[in-house]
Amino acid sequence: MLGPVILAASRSDNMRRFVSAAPGTKQVVSRFIAGETVDQVVPIIVDAADKGLEVTLDVVGEDITTVEQSHAARDAYLELIDRLKDLGLGTRAEMSVKLSMFGQALEGGHELALANVRPVVEAAAAIGTTVTLDAEDHTTLDSMFAIHDELRKDFPQTGCVIQAYLFRTEADARRLAADGSRVRIVKGAYKEPAEVAYQDKAEIDKAYVRILRILMEGEGYPMIGSHDPRLISIAQELARRAGRKLDEYEFQMLYGIRSDEHLRLAAEGHRMRVYTAYGTDWYGYFMRRLAEKPANLLFFARSILTK
Ligand code: FAD
Repeated sequence: MLGPVILAASRSDNMRRFVSAAPGTKQVVSRFIAGETVDQVVPIIVDAADKGLEVTLDVVGEDITTVEQSHAARDAYLELIDRLKDLGLGTRAEMSVKLSMFGQALEGGHELALANVRPVVEAAAAIGTTVTLDAEDHTTLDSMFAIHDELRKDFPQTGCVIQAYLFRTEADARRLAADGSRVRIVKGAYKEPAEVAYQDKAEIDKAYVRILRILMEGEGYPMIGSHDPRLISIAQELARRAGRKLDEYEFQMLYGIRSDEHLRLAAEGHRMRVYTAYGTDWYGYFMRRLAEKPANLLFFARSILTK
């Protein structure tokens, strides 16, 4: 029951102020957030590459309120791409973006987000890498998929994310699989109402497997975003049955979560990409990580109380 409460708190400004100022917060946040600046994240990218891992980089931030902030988000990604150019990792270091951070929720937000994300996708392509559009709450998805379609006209490698907990997702998966898209499938991390989403964990897991099968049997490139050992072995079996080679799908996990498993799958020859978030506006991202595993909240509470 704690998960939904934490997700509700993730929308509260008072809670944001409290959590951000609490002693001990930084130490817990650093488990999930790789650093605050590009300079801090570059060595982590290099270290991951040395270990045979790939990364997708997320400059954290969402819920912006001004057009200027949306431009700053675009510029933060352009700065990152400029640094990635020197590393020469190609698609081994790609980017994940949240369109809310590019202004999607502001007035005229669909066009604004498209205008902000396009130069990022162009710059990524110029250094031989690509961008994946994260999935946020269900009200944003029609716009996200329309932007994805638009970007794919010029940059067909642009990826997107679908969430197993939403009723709509099987239909989305069929369309994207037929289009040959790069698609990350995840369980879903937002607080969604029963009218649009499964609430029961077992139902979500079953939907995840149905969607995974659609992606594996389709024409696209499936990206399995999960730490769930059961789903990971089902994905391996579905890939085998669909006749996919090891480079025809990939696993993705979050920085700081099940790091041994990152290395184990990479050592088995799988493509393993670590979603690596960095930046100063980490509150929303951090609260979703707490909600996914209430034990994290206890750890967090303990670290505040012992400071
Ligand atoms: P769970 O059943 O939640 O977890 C399985 C096991 O993994 C747990 O038992 C635990 O051992 C470990 N684990 C999982 N989460 C945590 C945690 N926070 N802390 C510690 N241990 C944990 N969601 C979206 O809505 N939109 C996105 O764009 C999006 N992108 C993602 C990208 C990647 C690469 C990944 C891995 C997840 C992403 N998510 C996204 C989050 C996703 O929706 C889930 O909330 C999250 O992955 C937890 O689900 P799970 O599949 O790992 O399974």
